Amino acid sequence: MKLAVIGTGYVGLVTGTCFSDLGNDVTCIDVNEAKVEGLRQGIIPIYEPGLSELVIRNYEEGRLKFTTAASDVIPDSDVVYIAVGTPQSDSGAADLSAVWKVVEDIAPHLREDALVIVKSTVPVGTNAKVFEMLKKLTGRECHCASNPEFLKEGSAIDDFMYPDRVVCGVRNEFSEEILQTLHAPLLRTGKPILFMSPESSELTKYAANALLATKISFINEIANLSEKVGADINDVRIGMGHDQRIGFQFLFPGLGYGGSCFPKDVRALASLADSLDLQPKIMRAVDEVNVHQRASLVRKIDAYYGGDLAGKKVGIWGLAFKPKTDDVREAPALELLRYLIEKGAEIAVHDPEAMENIQQQFGDKIHTYCKNEMEAIDGADCLAINTEWNEYRTPDFNKLKSKMKAPVIFDGRNLFDLGVVEKNGFTYYSVGRTPVD
Ligand code: NAD
Repeated sequence: MKLAVIGTGYVGLVTGTCFSDLGNDVTCIDVNEAKVEGLRQGIIPIYEPGLSELVIRNYEEGRLKFTTAASDVIPDSDVVYIAVGTPQSDSGAADLSAVWKVVEDIAPHLREDALVIVKSTVPVGTNAKVFEMLKKLTGRECHCASNPEFLKEGSAIDDFMYPDRVVCGVRNEFSEEILQTLHAPLLRTGKPILFMSPESSELTKYAANALLATKISFINEIANLSEKVGADINDVRIGMGHDQRIGFQFLFPGLGYGGSCFPKDVRALASLADSLDLQPKIMRAVDEVNVHQRASLVRKIDAYYGGDLAGKKVGIWGLAFKPKTDDVREAPALELLRYLIEKGAEIAVHDPEAMENIQQQFGDKIHTYCKNEMEAIDGADCLAINTEWNEYRTPDFNKLKSKMKAPVIFDGRNLFDLGVVEKNGFTYYSVGRTPVD
């Protein structure tokens, strides 16, 4: 099939690349000329394991193309995927301006038998609005479906290629058949493709993200309780997770969720409920707990130094909102960096992939961007850990201690065993566990 994928971010680029790898003829379209030009030269704008090889191979074999000119591509496309960003607006609701812009751009060029599929995460009712808008702009009823994306940054290719399920919101058999054909190669292991109304499909995406966010906020609240009552959240988590009704996934305490999806999706769902005079109490609480948790490392550091960090050197491990991505949108590290800058601390940071994104935002307010994690703690008064990259999990504690000015660690991700840090003579603050000092 001939596909146009509009929006070449984490979702659009992965979607377009994977569909091209499955033998489709795909053109990825983006308004960002530099991004498009870079992609043509094999420069991948994001870090996502395995993506670079897949883009380059499919581009070189002619199945994957990149352009800024939607009008050249849409007349020839069987399927037009909309995968542009839907960020949070000031009110908390999703900002759909990029989606509306795309609908306006494609309408004059759409073939009568083309299927427009909304992959962006959009509030319930958006697909119906896209359908109405296309009807107004084209003078006919266009085929229009919803196919939300469930991939996770850091394992996006695998998530796309081996989905737990594919959710499709359709209005007619024509759309259903195209979506079925498109996804058939991904469903050979018997995983389901679920057809429902566009409204149910749109709500499924938000509900799934909101429940995962709820699990994270829940375990963080229990972790804070553990700290106060002398329990160990790790034991509590394991004790809970073995219950098959509960399980282990998304039950890791830490610095709260971040990234470009959970925070905005929880708020957009709450905002939708608000607009319908419902009271989204759980979703508001999930967000509130998360905002509070994101600042938990700041609170611990502030209490330890009595707010006096001027001239103190803080080494930071991890900037991305989670491992295996370069995405720093709504990352807990941002909060810590702002606080340390305000307090006049000397900051040295390391992250395997996210340094460039942080440098763009903070520039020389951060004193040292380090090549490796050991450089970041050289002469440091303390180490603060924001992201659980694997390379941080088993440091040489002797070396760490000898390089640091003081053996103090604030760990937002519970990377280390309490007994090990204690034996090595560290002062250690983690999440939901008794401090070691
Ligand atoms: P992104 O910000 O990484 O990328 C969006 C891209 O769209 C950018 O490259 C931007 O230049 C482009 N764009 C904006 N307006 C355009 C226009 N008018 N025409 C062409 N291109 C345009 O966003 P993302 O993270 O890929 O997310 C896209 C959507 O998918 C969002 O709705 C998001 O909620 C959803 N989603 C994201 C993830 C994730 O992990 N990132 C997972 C599932 C769903």
